[in-house]
Amino acid sequence: MYSLQNDPQLAEKEAEYKAYLDDHILKVHEVYKEFGPMLIDRMNSIDISHPVDVKALDLAIRSHDLKKYEPAEFNGYRLMYFPTDMELGKYSSGYRQVCFNKSFNLHSHESDHHLEFWSYLEGREIVCIPMSNEAIVEMLVDWQTKSGRAFLTPADYWDSIRFKKAVHDETRTKINAIIHLLPGLK
Ligand SMILES: [Zn+2]
Repeated sequence: MYSLQNDPQLAEKEAEYKAYLDDHILKVHEVYKEFGPMLIDRMNSIDISHPVDVKALDLAIRSHDLKKYEPAEFNGYRLMYFPTDMELGKYSSGYRQVCFNKSFNLHSHESDHHLEFWSYLEGREIVCIPMSNEAIVEMLVDWQTKSGRAFLTPADYWDSIRFKKAVHDETRTKINAIIHLLPGLK
């Protein structure tokens, strides 16, 4: 949809983004193995009335970001982060940003490990509902996996978005209580 026909670099760039995705998903599984039990314990201690459904969380981790391989999500991310030379020449950065936003919005509104999944527009108002404890743990695992690159620690990332994104107070309080347990990847 976004890519140019007869673009000799396209297959290579698609393979690069796919390799990035494969690597991210593998790391999410490793980080969950290392930090999952601690995060679950902590979550259970701050919300004793809703113990984490570990079976459901295991399943969610196993299918983490698999939707990103579907073209509607894949193409916008790929064009943003792994564009070919032809695409860079043909498309403005604004156009690439719009394509990326469409893919990101689709992903984040359909994947419950994103804050965006838990809010909706009612007229001009953003309504937030509390995030499930399982989704919070998966999100924190995701942030720990992405740390050490664009941001150092999950707490740094949270500081940069906590007042920009719409978040239910209950969710905010739980994240605040857990986030400092995550050291960030070296
Ligand atoms: Zn995701």
